[in-house]
Amino acid sequence: MSVNIPAYRELCTVAAAYGAKLAAVSKTKPASDILALYEAGQRIFAENYVQELTAKYAALPRDIRWHSIGHLQTNKVKYIAPFVSVIQGVDSLRLLHAINREAGKNGRRIDCLLQIHIATETTKFGLDEQELDQVAETVTAAPEDFRHIRLTGLMGMASFTPDQQQVAAEFGKLKTLFGKVRDRYGMDPEVFCELSMGMSADYRLALEAGSTLIRVGSLLFGERNRP
Ligand SMILES: *Cc1c(COP(=O)(O)O)cnc(C)c1O
Repeated sequence: MSVNIPAYRELCTVAAAYGAKLAAVSKTKPASDILALYEAGQRIFAENYVQELTAKYAALPRDIRWHSIGHLQTNKVKYIAPFVSVIQGVDSLRLLHAINREAGKNGRRIDCLLQIHIATETTKFGLDEQELDQVAETVTAAPEDFRHIRLTGLMGMASFTPDQQQVAAEFGKLKTLFGKVRDRYGMDPEVFCELSMGMSADYRLALEAGSTLIRVGSLLFGERNRP
């Protein structure tokens, strides 16, 4: 078993000191590792790949709250809509419509985070500021068209760089955008309340910058073979 329970305890303590939650990123890791962390008390797990997510959902305890992270294809939403708690990687209006439709078919309402492009790398997914405005405006102008989703916040990934100042600046930018969009579109702060940022390498900086939800994988489960 490769799960690092002392690191988990430490992470829980640090996150709690900031009033933040921890999503354990379990992509590529076996169900047995997830169960080990579950038994230590963890309930939020995050996965990137739909096939893995559905297989693990079927095999593991029902009170796990599953988050979908990373890019999600519109035509795959139907496989996770019956059970997923939060979809963190919403990067288009088209995807948001698909989530609303599939959640409706399941008589559910799914929490969604809009993924914002804050890094310098162009390979990373996410909306730019203008696209964020567009999505927020569309959703708040026609809430009846989005009855089966809730916009609960923003998500972002900082650049992969040893430059701590740059990473902190990118997190700061996301935090500013978060407040701006919430205020501009009169979003309920009780609902639009989640700022998902921070991974194994940069979660402390993210918490300092106002993260409410860190997504940590390798620190808990060890290095992955594929990214
Ligand atoms: C894989 C992944 C993580 C976790 O990364 P670690 O460096 O292993 O903590 C967090 N967020 C997203 C979107 C990921 O794809």
